[in-house]
Amino acid sequence: MSKDAPTRLPTNAQRLADRFGPAALPALLDGLAANGMAIAIFDPEDRLVFYGPAFRDAFDVQDGPQTFESVIRHCHSTMRGALILTDDIDTWLATANEKRRSMPNRKFEVDLADGRWMWAVETTYNDGWIMLVLQDFTSLKQREIGLEHARDAALHAAETDPLTGLANRRAIMRYLDDCVQLASEGVPLSIALIDIDYFKRINDSYGHHAGDDVLRHFGRYCTHIFRNSDRVGRIGGEEFLLIMPNTGGTAAVTALQRFKHHLHRASQLLPQRLGFTFSAGVVEWQAPMTSSDLYKDADGMLYQAKAGGRNLIIATGNARPDSQAVAGQGGV
Ligand code: GH3
Ligand code: MG
Ligand code: MG
Repeated sequence: MSKDAPTRLPTNAQRLADRFGPAALPALLDGLAANGMAIAIFDPEDRLVFYGPAFRDAFDVQDGPQTFESVIRHCHSTMRGALILTDDIDTWLATANEKRRSMPNRKFEVDLADGRWMWAVETTYNDGWIMLVLQDFTSLKQREIGLEHARDAALHAAETDPLTGLANRRAIMRYLDDCVQLASEGVPLSIALIDIDYFKRINDSYGHHAGDDVLRHFGRYCTHIFRNSDRVGRIGGEEFLLIMPNTGGTAAVTALQRFKHHLHRASQLLPQRLGFTFSAGVVEWQAPMTSSDLYKDADGMLYQAKAGGRNLIIATGNARPDSQAVAGQGGV
């Protein structure tokens, strides 16, 4: 054992000291750095005391004395090295400095301006020295991002009607269940079952593609006209369910009338100026209705709208715009 070897070292570290002598630490650091590990050491005043080529490359470290702050400011101002997307670098640094040295070990991701991702492990010693080790995990990160996108796309596809881009039957029925639950807790709720009139004739006269255009057009305008909290789903064929939380029956009918007006005008833009109409059955939730009670009642109102000649919005008594006509159903 060398006479100059540090004392009180754990057995294995003592063996390292025996192997490398007093230069053990620099030799180890050089070895790690030479193997491509991005490694840096900051003293308690945050001066950059040691770094290897991979760290210099990752953070675009300039020649001459550097501190944590000077390295970060350089990255920010040149948009090289670590990607720091902020207009307020002083606040960014203040936040970073609050985190630094706040715990003995921190692990975080560093996004580099050249598109690489580094996984950072920061060790803070009792006396304020910091050792920062970064490893390139770009391929893992890209796989993770790819998987996230694939998962989001799969979730979206599972809930979306591919033709219209609206919620599909499954998704809109689940939303209905959620809204009925909220209704039972006091949030008003109205729904409308909407069916395009004489849709078969459109298909027969202009072809299936024209029919598809009408459905897409309908879907687009639903998304434009109704409030963000309202949701429309395609139940099947040319039938749609509109769910309007926080909406009483009268307001629901008014919203549908407005929609009818806009849709009629907008349908003039369709290739054959297909001026199609729809019929709707509107129901306002009343205790203790379930989702299927609501749906059944809306279906009954829709049936009446069809039987009444189509191009009608029919509401249950409590959803009529004319508040005096409470008995029976109201056609609009
Ligand atoms: P009503 O006024 O009574 O609702 O009559 P309608 O012709 O609209 O209703 P019907 O149920 O008789 O016909 C609906 C048609 O919708 C029949 C079906 O072929 C067509 N259809 C269903 N899904 C699609 C689709 O995705 N694209 C197109 N183009 N047509 C569809
Ligand atoms: Mg129809
Ligand atoms: Mg139908």
